[in-house]
Amino acid sequence: MYSGECLCGTVMYQVNTAISAIECCHCQTCRKAHSSAFAIGVTIDASSFQLVHGEDSLQAFESSNGKFRVFCKHCGSHIYAYRPQQPNTLRLRAATLNTDLNQFSIKHIYTENRINLD
Ligand SMILES: [Zn+2]
Ligand SMILES: [Zn+2]
Repeated sequence: MYSGECLCGTVMYQVNTAISAIECCHCQTCRKAHSSAFAIGVTIDASSFQLVHGEDSLQAFESSNGKFRVFCKHCGSHIYAYRPQQPNTLRLRAATLNTDLNQFSIKHIYTENRINLD
C-alpha cells in the first residue's frame, strides 16, 4: 500500500495495489499540465485508489477529448487523470506519492517529444 498527497496536503489518497514500474511521459499535454519537462505516471485499477481526504478540493480539466486531469484546486498538484470511457483504470501522477520513487523502474513514453536535458 502507498499513500500520496498534493503539495498543500489538502488532498490525500491511498493506493492498494503493487506498483513496480512507472512511466516518464514526455508528451506535450503532460509537459504543460505539470509545467515540467516530463511527468511520471502509472496506470492503476480505479478500485485500488482511495481518497483519504480532500475530495471537495479536487477539480477536473478535460485536457483532450475524453481525458480528464484531476488536480488540487488550492495548490495545483496534478493527482490523477482518467477517461470516463475506461472507468476501471486511472492514471496516477506518481510524483505525488509519499514514497521513495527510486524503488520503481522507469520507462519512457512519447520520447519523440523528449526535451534534451543534457
Ligand atoms: Zn493541494
Ligand atoms: Zn503524457
